[in-house]
Amino acid sequence: MSENIDKDRVFIFDTTLRDGEQSPGASMNIEEKLSIATLLEEMGVDVIEAGFPIASNGDFDAVSKIAQIITRSTVCGLARTIKNDIEQCALAIKSAPLKRIHIVISTSSLHMKYKLQMTPESVLEAIRDSVILARNLVDDVELSAEDGSRTDHDFLCRCVETAITAGACTINIPDTVGWSMPNEYADLISMLLARVPNIDKAILSVHCHNDLGLAVANSLAAVCAGARQIECTINGLGERAGNAALEEIIMCIKTRSDRLPYSNNIRTELITRASRLVSSITGISVQPNKAIVGKNAFAHESGIHQDGILKNSKTYEIMTPESVGLDKSILVLGKHSGRAAFKSKLKDLGYNLENVDIEVAFCRFKDLADCKKDISDDDVKSIIEQ
Ligand SMILES: [Zn+2]
Repeated sequence: MSENIDKDRVFIFDTTLRDGEQSPGASMNIEEKLSIATLLEEMGVDVIEAGFPIASNGDFDAVSKIAQIITRSTVCGLARTIKNDIEQCALAIKSAPLKRIHIVISTSSLHMKYKLQMTPESVLEAIRDSVILARNLVDDVELSAEDGSRTDHDFLCRCVETAITAGACTINIPDTVGWSMPNEYADLISMLLARVPNIDKAILSVHCHNDLGLAVANSLAAVCAGARQIECTINGLGERAGNAALEEIIMCIKTRSDRLPYSNNIRTELITRASRLVSSITGISVQPNKAIVGKNAFAHESGIHQDGILKNSKTYEIMTPESVGLDKSILVLGKHSGRAAFKSKLKDLGYNLENVDIEVAFCRFKDLADCKKDISDDDVKSIIEQ
């Protein structure tokens, strides 16, 4: 995978079905997972992390069903550095034409001491042995150094070098607890690229959590420093405050290609569909002011903005609603709206403006908007019919 690829190509690894499902209350059944996986493939996601096969029989079945139907994306399963995890994972993904085993082990002193209760030397040994075992089962192996952003640099370099020597093609450096600042995380990626002797044999990947609201910023900073795989989820679903949101990453790259000259395969016009599918399945709705997929992301209420939008949408929109799969922007009629939006609404409802006393109707509309938050089409019709 690391040879002969465009150096500016960023691979998109979606973990909605694995990390996303670890959101409290987000568990999904097999049919639901299959429908999400199918849409992710249609969107052009490079790697779909389908689940953690050893976690339960249901997870195993979901990963194996996904592996049977997905042909264009790589199907990935998660495993710890445990023989049975890795073997079950290989079994679950075996039908997929493109498959990956993703091995995870913690590398920070805190996690090694309290969570794993392992010495650094035994962690290195586990990395080596488990990557070699996985490479005997599949060609594509990824290693994650969990809590990588809080790992001692010298030790992290040794872990990465060991994993690559053992045959890992992708090395993921998670900001597991959302601790990093963007420049600090970029420096970590640069440090690995400068210090690990065999780093050119693998792709560096990032996996950022959003505890401080920096998951997308950290992911993009890492890409600018040389990382070439981003792990993310639809709607930013994931443990605690969630993961980096796929839709935000992709629209950043598309909208600011002047600053982020990286290519990817994602069909952005499927973003809204994917967002709605994931929230309807998980029951976790998206906040209205969420970037890209929030209900208000392309809605305008203030009169000044509505007037601008009606004259030229670029005045207040840096992306088109069509580019994310919406029909058009919404001009919300409310107490901040002006004549321009009101007239535009009348036209949309089929009224001939020459037959309407705009001033009288507009005054009535403003009076109503003072006591009612949302003015519906029916409200506008009854104003005119008066
Ligand atoms: Zn995670």
